[in-house]
This record gives sequence, C-alpha cells and structure tokens, in this order.
Amino acid sequence: MSSDAARPVMPIVNPDTEPFWDGCAVGKLLLQRCTACGRVRHPPSPICPNCLSDAQDWRQASGRGSVYTFVVVHEERRGWERLVPYVLAVVELDEGVRIVTNLVNVAPKDVAIGMPVEVTFATSTDVVRLPLFQPLTRAAP
Ligand code: ZN
Repeated sequence: MSSDAARPVMPIVNPDTEPFWDGCAVGKLLLQRCTACGRVRHPPSPICPNCLSDAQDWRQASGRGSVYTFVVVHEERRGWERLVPYVLAVVELDEGVRIVTNLVNVAPKDVAIGMPVEVTFATSTDVVRLPLFQPLTRAAP
C-alpha cells in the first residue's frame, strides 16, 4: 500500500474546473453560467446541458443554501481516523444547483434536511481549497 492511501483523495483540477478552484483559493464560491440561455450549472462542464452552447462565464454565488441530503460517516478508514464521524452532504445552493460537500462546525446529530447553511473554506496546504458548509450564521440580505 502506498503512502498516498493514508491521505484523503483530493479533486483533480482540469481546464473546465480550474476557475472554480481558483475562486475557492481566494474564498469565493464561483458558479459557471451559460451566457446563451442564462442557466447556472455545477459541476462545471464545457457545454451547457440545457442549450448545448459553449458560451459561459463565472459568477460569484451567494454562498448560501440548504441541506438537500446527508449521511454521517462513522467508518474509520486508514488516514481518516481523526475525521470520523463526519457529515457528507449534498447542499442545494440558492442559485438552484447542488454541490457535494462536507458539513462542518455542527454536531452530526444536529444536522437536518432543509437546514440553512453557508459556505466556508477549508484551510489547506493541498492543491485545492475545498468549499465546506456550516450552519447559517448571518441573515440573508
Ligand atoms: Zn445554455
């Protein structure tokens, strides 16, 4: 078994996802938007699934959403012992897209579907800085 087996698997940056990860690196949650039809999409892709246009730009998301679904992970895998239990979740952003993430700063027993959450960013020395979500601490504008 290689030493990499003890480290959490990190996302791989490619030309389609690079703007997303560049935003995370500076504490901004960016979403790809089709400039032909206006549809926001995530994860990033080269072609709009709605109208097939490749015209796109990036907009900063509100950073707010709600828990769409979640699971509490208790399995202790090598290298992950210090992380369990942790909450793996799908968050539905206010912009209407869903993102797979971890919930932090909340006890797993207190997580509920529909719970309002906001983005926060992992402090990391890894290649990418992960967007995480925590219970909403500020009022919506
Ligand atoms: Zn489109």
